[in-house]
Amino acid sequence: MSLESFVEEARRIVGPRWVLVETWSLAGYAIDYWPLLVYRALRDPRGALSRGPAAAVLPGSEEEVAALLEAAQRFGVRLAVYAGGSGVLGGAVPDEGWVVLDVARLDWVDWFDEEAGIVDAGAGAPLAEVEGWLNRRGWTLRHYPQSLPEARIGGLVATRSTGQYSTGYGGIEERVKGLHAAVPGVGLVRVKPSPRRSVLPPLEQLFTGSEGLLGVITRVYLEALPLPECELRVHWRPGSFREALGEARSLAQRRLAPDLYRIYDEQEAPVALGVEGPAAIGVYEGPCRVARARLEAAAELISSRVEVEEGEGPASRWLRERFNVIASIARLLEIGLAFDTIEFSAPWGSAARVYEAARSAALSVEGVAYVGVHASHFYPSGVALYMTFAFDAGRLEEVYGAVWDRVMRAVSSAGGSISHHHGIGRMRLPYLKLELGEEGARLVARIKRALDPQGILRGFPL
Ligand SMILES: Cc1cc2nc3c(=O)[nH]c(=O)nc-3n(C[C@H](O)[C@H](O)[C@H](O)COP(=O)(O)OP(=O)(O)OC[C@H]3O[C@@H](n4cnc5c(N)ncnc54)[C@H](O)[C@@H]3O)c2cc1C
Repeated sequence: MSLESFVEEARRIVGPRWVLVETWSLAGYAIDYWPLLVYRALRDPRGALSRGPAAAVLPGSEEEVAALLEAAQRFGVRLAVYAGGSGVLGGAVPDEGWVVLDVARLDWVDWFDEEAGIVDAGAGAPLAEVEGWLNRRGWTLRHYPQSLPEARIGGLVATRSTGQYSTGYGGIEERVKGLHAAVPGVGLVRVKPSPRRSVLPPLEQLFTGSEGLLGVITRVYLEALPLPECELRVHWRPGSFREALGEARSLAQRRLAPDLYRIYDEQEAPVALGVEGPAAIGVYEGPCRVARARLEAAAELISSRVEVEEGEGPASRWLRERFNVIASIARLLEIGLAFDTIEFSAPWGSAARVYEAARSAALSVEGVAYVGVHASHFYPSGVALYMTFAFDAGRLEEVYGAVWDRVMRAVSSAGGSISHHHGIGRMRLPYLKLELGEEGARLVARIKRALDPQGILRGFPL
């Protein structure tokens, strides 16, 4: 049988210790952080965890990854690429009979070029370790997703992740200066780091956001920056969420937006910041004089009164609590509620319309108890909106799918994009055409076929 032959070959490639086949050692791969799977697992832990993959393989080098792809092609085995498992849409989760390719052992971090600030990180290197390594040397990636404790470099790049300071520093795609990826039938593609190049479409960007569909990222060259000298924390109270969006547009277009910038609507401000809403918080960073000058110019530009926090305040409180997700899940479950989040983006011209449409779509589903929205990534041309909805945990199957379906359609028809930084995973696959159109979706399917003709990696149902 092909699976058995593959497992035998995998043992030869990576060593028997790194091929897992026992049910207990595979259970963890049955879920990622997709709330649908998490809540099902809480309801029926045994059932959920028995649905693990047929096997998991942990390669220790880039060459071993390429050899595993070659073996998977030879034996017709399908692979799910797994890094930190913090994805929220089921992208890393294998179907029955699949094998997991876990990149966790590709976990090195070193300078590629210290003068350039280019760090060479393995796809399995945990972000928290890479950032800690850099901080000890006076450098930073300034990439802080809320999943910082779990996410790994390969997963972050494969999902085009953004962090909490993205308004100032951009998404992970701006940090990626080169990478290596193993591609079925091609081998190990080595894109060397470069500050910028004009040599056909940048191959590193082909894999940035590829979500385990086109190849396996094995190594990433990331551009780091010296740690900022100063940090100024601010908060203010816009008159309405719509007004807050208008202020954000003025600031972003004049490059005066805080490096970390978040605005909360009336529903979410009390929950996230402990203040009446709407509310805005921000952090300006950089050389002290520059950070202060930017803050002063921003405060002059908008009509709300910007307050600088010397001690405690909404921005400081948020910074302290920002990675504490488990406590919120537990608090809601105690009162019978489950929750999920949906992020999307919109150009400024349709941002307020997209906000209203998404909120109404979620609230129109019976069983939804709460909808709150914040905006947390700002661009000269638009904004990312992030919606949290809580619903009756006892009606998971029925309410969850209906909210997602209505929100995806509402966002798209109001002029927004269906995802800003969580990616497609499994949950958004049915909505690809809404975003890319018929022809765009056909092109993606053709790229997939060209790079993975046998479909050994996760695919698109197009
Ligand atoms: C509490 C919480 C907060 C979060 N906050 C944020 C946030 O602020 N910003 C943000 O962007 N995201 C956030 N996320 C989502 C998630 O953390 C990101 O999508 C992250 O980038 C996933 O990284 P990972 O290493 O966990 O990848 P995984 O979950 O293991 O994989 C994600 C996808 O990438 C693919 N993949 C993984 N490794 C590779 C590789 N080496 N080559 C090719 N494909 C690969 C997988 O197949 C899968 O499709 C959050 C998640 C949670 C649970």
